[in-house]
Amino acid sequence: MEKARELNPSELMHEYLRHKKRFPHLWCSGCGIGTIMGAIIRAIADCELDRDSVVMVSGIGCSSRMPIYVDFNTLHTTHGRPIAFATGIKLARPELEVIVVTGDGDVAAIGGNHLIHACRRNINLTVVCINNNIYGMTGGQASPTTPQGKVATTARYGDFERAFDLCDLTAGAGAVFVARGAVYYARQLEKLVAQAIRKKGFAFVDVISQCPTYYGRFNKFKSPVEMLYWQRDNTVNVKAAPKMKPEELEGKLITGVLADRDYPEFTELYDELIADLAAGRK
Ligand code: SF4
Ligand code: MG
Repeated sequence: MEKARELNPSELMHEYLRHKKRFPHLWCSGCGIGTIMGAIIRAIADCELDRDSVVMVSGIGCSSRMPIYVDFNTLHTTHGRPIAFATGIKLARPELEVIVVTGDGDVAAIGGNHLIHACRRNINLTVVCINNNIYGMTGGQASPTTPQGKVATTARYGDFERAFDLCDLTAGAGAVFVARGAVYYARQLEKLVAQAIRKKGFAFVDVISQCPTYYGRFNKFKSPVEMLYWQRDNTVNVKAAPKMKPEELEGKLITGVLADRDYPEFTELYDELIADLAAGRK
């Protein structure tokens, strides 16, 4: 990591990408995932983590391809299960920094139970959810975060189910750190991910992203740039929100750190229990 501090952002990306072996990547032009990958790499460098101490774990989906392209310890697992695999790694090797990269379909539908119980358990993981409001890789089906009325392959007349607010969900389930960022605010996102990595306990970062190929096309966005402007125009920073009127906040997504509190961490409690049992204290 000594070297990382001397690199400019572009050199940093090249340092931590498997660009010689794994590129070209499969993401569509204008997709938000690459920007988020850049923010995660810069956050890891900012935290001065040695590359061998980082484990990136993902499930299945477009965003879950990220571990293929980055030069850390990486694990590309099964659909909805990255938190379960990450929990196993963290229990076996608590000294490693385990970062889960997942999508809204992966983490909130099939993986929803893993998500809420990891929050409740407070195991020291960082989960970055690339939330583009749709299943990208499997063809644009509605996901648990598709907003009401928006069109998907499985909701041709508009989805009438209510969407999950993943920040409310994870905060309610006990996550000690919850934040929301957006691709449009890439530098803020980098800071939020770094804060999440530094936090001891379960940290969740919801990232508003764009899938121009499915969500954008189905919902009449003319370009990825228009989707980025939507992010700019429909978000309010948590520091600005208290000064705004309820009607100004109507329909807006609040960005920034939304929960930051402390609670005993699972692997530490587990180690304490083992020590107590070994010493005959229990
Ligand atoms: Fe990105 Fe959507 Fe293309 Fe997947 S399908 S790479 S989410 S734009
Ligand atoms: Mg998605």
